[in-house]
Amino acid sequence: MAMAQGQGSRATREAVPPVSRVAIIGGGISGLAAAKQMAAYDPVVFEATPSVGGVWKHCVYRTTRLQTPRPDYEFSDYSWKNRDDPSFPTHTEIVDYLEGYADEFDLWRYISFGSKVVDIKFLGGAQAGFTELWSGTGKDPLRGKPMWEVGIVTGDSNTVQYYKFEFVVMCTGKYGDVPRMPVFPPGKGPEVFKGTVMHSLDYCKLSEEETVELMRGKKVVVVGYKKSAIDLANECAQANQGEGGQACTMLVRTLHWVVPSYSIWGLPFSMFYSTRLSQLFYERPNQGFFRSLVCRLMSPLTMHAYHNLTATSCSLNFCGPAVRGVEVHRVVPVVEAAAGKVRSDAGPPLLEDYASCQMAILPEGFFDMADRGLVRFKRASTGWCFSENGVVLDDGTKVEADLVFLATGFEGKEKLREVLPKPFRDLVVGKSSMMPLYRGTIHPLIPNMAFVGFVESVSNLHTSELRCRWLSGLLEGRFELPSVKAMMGHVAGEADAMRRTTRFYRRHCISTYSIHDSDGMCADLGSATLRKANWIAELFAPYNNKDYKEQ
Ligand SMILES: Cc1cc2nc3c(=O)[nH]c(=O)nc-3n(C[C@H](O)[C@H](O)[C@H](O)COP(=O)(O)OP(=O)(O)OC[C@H]3O[C@@H](n4cnc5c(N)ncnc54)[C@H](O)[C@@H]3O)c2cc1C
Repeated sequence: MAMAQGQGSRATREAVPPVSRVAIIGGGISGLAAAKQMAAYDPVVFEATPSVGGVWKHCVYRTTRLQTPRPDYEFSDYSWKNRDDPSFPTHTEIVDYLEGYADEFDLWRYISFGSKVVDIKFLGGAQAGFTELWSGTGKDPLRGKPMWEVGIVTGDSNTVQYYKFEFVVMCTGKYGDVPRMPVFPPGKGPEVFKGTVMHSLDYCKLSEEETVELMRGKKVVVVGYKKSAIDLANECAQANQGEGGQACTMLVRTLHWVVPSYSIWGLPFSMFYSTRLSQLFYERPNQGFFRSLVCRLMSPLTMHAYHNLTATSCSLNFCGPAVRGVEVHRVVPVVEAAAGKVRSDAGPPLLEDYASCQMAILPEGFFDMADRGLVRFKRASTGWCFSENGVVLDDGTKVEADLVFLATGFEGKEKLREVLPKPFRDLVVGKSSMMPLYRGTIHPLIPNMAFVGFVESVSNLHTSELRCRWLSGLLEGRFELPSVKAMMGHVAGEADAMRRTTRFYRRHCISTYSIHDSDGMCADLGSATLRKANWIAELFAPYNNKDYKEQ
């Protein structure tokens, strides 16, 4: 059934046995990390597409680059060949790196490409009392008893073939595949617009020539102000340089921080956010009363420290064109904005964007394009809708357009809901509107299943790899899960801490307490939590994935 690649050492899985121990769904970084860590179980990796890499293969534009420095987006036991290269890797470099990882650890043999999971059935039975199952089996999740049946379609076939597994790891990704579409009242949606509407996901499918042809000389509106929107506007501006070019207008609901590089005063940003000292006074999940009090007292200070740090470094011009928001561009001096002195609609404080993994790295020359009038910004804080000739903002401003791009994000959780059976499907999102994942991996109410890649940090690769190692420790019986009630309490505490740190807590980002998060997993595994050579390094040296290399 698998479409074997037939490249010698890259031969993929030929056949899937009717019953196996572990299924991994998805072949992005999370699925690859899971396959490596669970190799002892000869896992079956189902990947819908014909390649590994996930979003880096299917959800990128010509100019998309990683926003994390190479040494931070690196498997603990597989280095980038050019790890000292300070440039952010292109998406093709990332796919090469991931294919190299699959070569190095012979992961191809587990993967069944072109195998889309369309259905999952629970074999535990309704009467099994599913909420009790984790506590009952936390000791030994692999009991030799199939718990899930996974339905696959391959190629163009409509036939669903089912395979049984004891344990399933969902690595289907938070981004890509399912676009998030804005909803409009009748008569105000895309149906009234004479031009073309396209989600950024469809734009990813076009060749360079097609994108240029699509945008050249057209009035383009890009809805959104995160990484996908900024990169798209930049490509639009590039396509419209010279005679006959038109400006691209970005519709911005919420301002977010965009930075030219991760460096402050010439020092890597990680010195300021990934050391134990820098994370000392941020909220952590389930901390004691005293710590909680100290954090809350320190909160205004840490907020301002972040602002001032950036503002000072920018005013000293150490970080080039510095940090800019949309209205900051031209209207408000950069330093004022960074110091939090601008109007309240000027966007969230830097810390909130950092704590919700929303800071974007600017593509080279972006604000130069804006200075040349090729990118313009319009605030749509309260809303907008389509008209016949473009879009209309809630304040009545009309923006003419031939083409409207929706860089409005993705519905990653929908991919899980589409395949999970009831009642689990309805449990994917908890009361906090986040996935209630213990250690960012285990849903307390969904037995014998794990979710990897749904929690974010500054480096999602590190976050996924360490979770996969923790998961393999669980399957090996190196530690037991707490009771369902204790896990539920833990995840609720985590949601509370995030809510107190940022209004964008639903993004489930752990960047402000990532070291503490890793400590918890290391402790479960019985590994050292303090992983630096001495206490000075422990306090002042940034932590990255290499610190978690298996001994
Ligand atoms: C434009 C962009 C820029 C980003 N920049 C950064 C960055 O700078 N730093 C960072 O840390 N993170 C970044 N990210 C986040 C990025 O998503 C993660 O770093 C990481 O690549 C996610 O990997 P994953 O394996 O969890 O998910 P994905 O890469 O989404 O992989 C999921 C895989 O599952 C497969 N799949 C889905 N559903 C099914 C199914 N039903 N059956 C079979 N297979 C299925 C998909 O085909 C896909 O291959 C960025 C994301 C985007 C979109």
